[in-house]
Amino acid sequence: MFPAKFAYAAPNSLQEALGLLEDPDAKVIAGGHSLLPLMKLRLAQPKLLVDIGRIPGLAYVRSEDGVLAIGAMTTYRDIQLSQDVHQRAPVLAEAAHEVGDPQVRAKGTLAGSLAHADPAGDIPAVALALGGVVRAVGTGGERDIDLDGFFVDMLTTSLQEREIIREVRLKVQPAGSGAAYQKFDQPASHYALTGVCAIISVSGGSISAARIGVTGVGPKAYRPTAVEQALVGKAPEEEAVKAAVQSVADGIDVQGDIHASPEYRAHLARVLTRRAVLQAAGRAGKG
Ligand SMILES: Cc1cc2nc3c(=O)[nH]c(=O)nc-3n(C[C@H](O)[C@H](O)[C@H](O)COP(=O)(O)OP(=O)(O)OC[C@H]3O[C@@H](n4cnc5c(N)ncnc54)[C@H](O)[C@@H]3O)c2cc1C
Repeated sequence: MFPAKFAYAAPNSLQEALGLLEDPDAKVIAGGHSLLPLMKLRLAQPKLLVDIGRIPGLAYVRSEDGVLAIGAMTTYRDIQLSQDVHQRAPVLAEAAHEVGDPQVRAKGTLAGSLAHADPAGDIPAVALALGGVVRAVGTGGERDIDLDGFFVDMLTTSLQEREIIREVRLKVQPAGSGAAYQKFDQPASHYALTGVCAIISVSGGSISAARIGVTGVGPKAYRPTAVEQALVGKAPEEEAVKAAVQSVADGIDVQGDIHASPEYRAHLARVLTRRAVLQAAGRAGKG
């Protein structure tokens, strides 16, 4: 299906882009790999596309003090190739490798993935597990939005209508921790039926810290904080971890569709969380 008619603008600066977004029917486009499919299905019908892909200087990964600063036009491919990512948050490269196919990874952006907030997107789970902020610019200036409050609901974030993500600032993996991303995908699109990122620290033979991000299960990616707490003090062994992760889908409005029932998704969440935690714990202290 063809999209409805729309106009196109390619501003040269974020200021110019913000000016164009004064039009209430305008929408930012980055890699286009989520927005264009929606437009073709006529589920989105913006009258003006504001392409931020021509603005110079928005594709980068910079290693700062404890943070990876990732520019708005940085693609999954850029993430896969970044030495800074491999050294300081290798689980992000691991998850980027799991997104779609080479064409999607060459065009889709990490910031676009967060802004789109697809309930089955891979990167939201990893971003929540790492922690950090989304740096957004609007006509009122710049602000940092903590990732813990960023995802509001299905396809909905706490970005305001006329705000643009300029940079995503992810914390690097804590020294000595191990991390893993486990995904069970829909074989045609490779979207996550369920995906789990775990970042685990081990000290004296037991888990001393755990951060987990889950995608594909509820209407938005989330951190199962009760599971994170239950893991602390446990031995990183099969039975102890299995018991600690049982509540990973509790209290979540688990989604069902033609690909997987809610019961199956909740089951996947428990299985993949156990696997991610054990794999991450096995990698801890080996960095
Ligand atoms: C065949 C196919 C398979 C895919 N498989 C997967 C998969 O396995 N896993 C996965 O996670 N994703 C998958 N995707 C989605 C892909 O990762 C998208 O590219 C990504 O989710 C969105 O990034 P984008 O740059 O393409 O955003 P766009 O499509 O350009 O934009 C998406 C939304 O975000 C907004 N937006 C984008 N950038 C910004 C910004 N800087 N500031 C504010 N708003 C912004 C846009 O206005 C729009 O509403 C797949 C897509 C396709 C087409």
